[in-house]
Amino acid sequence: MTAVDRSALVRAPLQELQRAARDVRDGAHGTRVTYSPKVFVPLTKLCRDRCGYCTFAQPPARLQAPFLSPDEVLAIAEAGAAAGCHEALFTLGEAPEARYPVARAWLEEHGYATTVDYLVAMCELVLARTGLLPHANAGALSGAELAALRRVSASQGMMLESLDATLACHRQAPDKAPERRLATLQAAGELAVPFTTGVLVGIGEDRAARLEALDAIADSHRRYGHVQEVIVQNFLPKPGTAMHDHPACPPEEFLWTIAAARLVLPPEVHVQAPPNLSDDLAPLLRSGIDDWGGVSPVTIDHVNPERAWPALAVLQAATEAEGMALAPRLTLYPEFALDPGRWLHEAMRFPVLDRSDAEGLARDHPWSSGGDVHPPSLVTGAAEGPARPDNDAGQARHGGRGGAVAEVLAGVELGQQVGEDEIVTLFSARGPEVRAVAELADELRRRTVGDVVTWVANRNINYTNVCTFKCRFCAFSKGPLSLNLRGAPYLLELSDITERIREAEEAGATEVCLQGGIHPDFDGDYYLHVIRAVREGSERIHIHGFTALEVTEGARRLGIPLEDYLRRLKDAGLATLPGTAAEILDDEVRAILCPDKIDTEEWLHAHRTAHLVGLRSNVTIMFGAVEQPRSWARHILRTRALQQETGGFTEFVPLPFVHMATPIYLQKRARRGPTFREALLMHAVGRIAYHGAIDNIQVSWVKMGIEGAAQALRAGANDLGGTLMDENISRAAGASHGQRMEEADFASVVVPLGRELQQRTTLYGRVPARC
Ligand code: SF4
Repeated sequence: MTAVDRSALVRAPLQELQRAARDVRDGAHGTRVTYSPKVFVPLTKLCRDRCGYCTFAQPPARLQAPFLSPDEVLAIAEAGAAAGCHEALFTLGEAPEARYPVARAWLEEHGYATTVDYLVAMCELVLARTGLLPHANAGALSGAELAALRRVSASQGMMLESLDATLACHRQAPDKAPERRLATLQAAGELAVPFTTGVLVGIGEDRAARLEALDAIADSHRRYGHVQEVIVQNFLPKPGTAMHDHPACPPEEFLWTIAAARLVLPPEVHVQAPPNLSDDLAPLLRSGIDDWGGVSPVTIDHVNPERAWPALAVLQAATEAEGMALAPRLTLYPEFALDPGRWLHEAMRFPVLDRSDAEGLARDHPWSSGGDVHPPSLVTGAAEGPARPDNDAGQARHGGRGGAVAEVLAGVELGQQVGEDEIVTLFSARGPEVRAVAELADELRRRTVGDVVTWVANRNINYTNVCTFKCRFCAFSKGPLSLNLRGAPYLLELSDITERIREAEEAGATEVCLQGGIHPDFDGDYYLHVIRAVREGSERIHIHGFTALEVTEGARRLGIPLEDYLRRLKDAGLATLPGTAAEILDDEVRAILCPDKIDTEEWLHAHRTAHLVGLRSNVTIMFGAVEQPRSWARHILRTRALQQETGGFTEFVPLPFVHMATPIYLQKRARRGPTFREALLMHAVGRIAYHGAIDNIQVSWVKMGIEGAAQALRAGANDLGGTLMDENISRAAGASHGQRMEEADFASVVVPLGRELQQRTTLYGRVPARC
């Protein structure tokens, strides 16, 4: 911006500036407002600076000890981890050892040369013992100090505060010299540290000085790309400080500065205002912020101890009242978390990945697929509020519907088909948006298949766990990548298969689901032998078996075209193919998950060919390991296109990644599977995206758990899948849900929803009641 623009900005009416700031914010960040669940670790309150407004810094006589001990640090961090925090914010005075002998002596006694050395050790300790991601807020530092902290923290910060060198409040604060602050900002950029900075408003500077500081931050970010957020903080006088009788920052100046920050900074830089320093939160949102900063359920704000954090519910209500949605983030923002090679030291990459969701935001709940933790209630019905903003501000901003998610939903209601961008948008839904997506999916489900919830009586037979392939997500196979061998490699005798089929039919099963590893000794005839073994046990049971990989390999090993091979299998008795082996139909992701497996085109070819010869099949998606929502969208669109061509798919089956015992998670290269929100949305978005193409959306109770399955049934799903006697694959990956469901178990899920439970055949025909 030119000097003229700057003077116009200084004089611009507040409301005009706020409107422009909101437009920029909405364009860059949509309706999402983030916050970081954190604990505050005040490592030392000693400081060599004497800033006129500060109550954080204390003289040694007022403190029990110069530094928190490692045990005290750990106790705070553990309390934070137990309360669901993701960030340990280390706040401390600047270089106290330069001023206080007692600080020097303490450090020496404990084996540290400087405060920063001790900070590095404590970041390392907290990370190792609690998994909380350290954010180091240690003031003006050298490049070497920033580099040492980069090894043990996910982000760092230093308030620029002001570049006005004449401020009285900084006269006794050598570290607040503008050139020292700017040098730190630049060094952080050179070292690729995701960096938080900010300005303090109302400490004696004028608007021009604030713009100068914001310009300097913007310039530094344009050069290095490292400024993740800018905090705009309002000065409040505190008793006992030199500025106790200085007037508080006038609200108009504060809001002007927020709006100016939004307009001066590149749009991707997040703008934050602390929620505990204002009584009314709406004006902050209306001035263009998209982040509330760190909010602690455990510790006070040690810099502003007199101002309590608002409860999360208050923050959520204030955010949603403006038609926006609240989302927890990590200490580093998604743009940085999703580009770890550039922004994170190698040692920090897995700790960040382990706490990330698919968008690079913080996991919002401890639930993971296949685990024991109860899921959060996202679509439980009665008690929840309206799914769409119902206040004037929210409605005015979004034409009554609320942002990009609502726009996509409105389009769907008008009969539009969602494309890649729209699907990605639906997966970004948070809070009330999730309920809105689920509501529409539920409505489409009702219109398409009514209120019946179906299930199939089936048995799984996994004939071998020996496999020559190296799928990195697979904990089932015993092959080159089996890091966590559970039990011995096995290959069932054909007679065992026959026997299991007899048992299954005896127990009422109408379907057998056959899949297994790709044994090095198999040729294509093996699968024909399996079908014959099944037929020896039952003339009638529906044979649902053999993944796209198995049939592709079978044909290859026999040296015959896939079409001929599939006809042979069909003639022998094969009826349908499972969609497994699809994982994510996006080759960039397959290159990470299963590099030697069939690629996207080969999977689609196998199913296209199966449909051509009269074998139907289903679409699965195994999601939440390494990929982002765009890959989910591509998977959905590629399978939808095939369905529009052949009509051969019977259902869509989301299979959330169960991470616990998988090689890729144990090698620290994958997330903990999808969050529950993501898993639920996969069912809802699937219902919306496949509307008019695939009528049935199945929820896997093995992966989602019973409570999760009940919610998925309210979010577009209409089928509970199979009773699954002998489900081995999810259990090998660490899933703890039972191996079998009975009709009564299914009824206990379905009846409370006011829906009717019905047993089905594999192809969704009615199964007559047994005498
Ligand atoms: S997923 Fe299938 S092909 Fe891949 S390693 Fe496991 S058993 Fe083998």
